[in-house]
Amino acid sequence: VLVYEHVRKVYGDFVALNDVSLQVNKGEVMCLIGPSGSGKSTLLRCTNALEKLDGGKVSLDGVALPEAESEVRKVRQRMGMVFQSFELFPHKSALDNVAMGPITVLGMTQEAARARAMALLEKVGLATKAANFPANLSGGQQQRVAIARALAMEPEVMLFDEPTSALDPETVGEVLNVMKKLAQEGMTMIVVTHEMSFARRVANWVVVFENGAILEQGPPTQIFDNPQVARTRDFLSHLG
Ligand code: ATP
Ligand code: MG
Repeated sequence: VLVYEHVRKVYGDFVALNDVSLQVNKGEVMCLIGPSGSGKSTLLRCTNALEKLDGGKVSLDGVALPEAESEVRKVRQRMGMVFQSFELFPHKSALDNVAMGPITVLGMTQEAARARAMALLEKVGLATKAANFPANLSGGQQQRVAIARALAMEPEVMLFDEPTSALDPETVGEVLNVMKKLAQEGMTMIVVTHEMSFARRVANWVVVFENGAILEQGPPTQIFDNPQVARTRDFLSHLG
């Protein structure tokens, strides 16, 4: 469904992505791992056209990402994004955070959007917190609202950029469980993560980045049990 061909991204004379070629099939989960600054977030931003490529191509269902802003917006709607910092609207309830996109972007009625939002809050286990404002939710709860908000737009692909890195350890699991459930339901997902046990159990494909390039890619059994590249082994062995 998503194909990257020789993707290149530079900032001045710094090469952030160099000759990255990848494929994510429909219904599959791809985890991106690698050291800080290796280009993982840059690849996600190139995926939903938050960044322009300096070379190569990203295509969704065989169609290259467009350049025109009006077209880019349509493509972006097909992808949900969840960030490390939840970025909820602080002055809106959990329910309104989730319902807002369907109302303002999809033109749904208040009533229909709120019904969809409530169903999604139930799905992420937060039906009882619908009226809470973000300040009155734990980090893990806020992140689950952020996931529900992204799902409210009915995306074909979900992009996660270190969704649990800012969380207290005790709330990491509840967010990973929601993500795991989504994966089991067949959502296509790209997940940047330092949670190696999640990558091992949930990913179909793991990509290891270093210095803007792919060091190694393969199924989790290869990457974690039988890495083919010595630097992959080094990287994994240095993780706490
Ligand atoms: P982390 O694990 O710390 O989030 P990452 O793998 O996500 O790292 P990126 O955010 O993709 O890394 O950044 C890759 C490199 O590109 C970094 O060295 C970063 O400093 C550089 N970079 C990213 N955005 C810009 C920018 N707008 N201008 C200049 N350099 C940038
Ligand atoms: Mg990053």
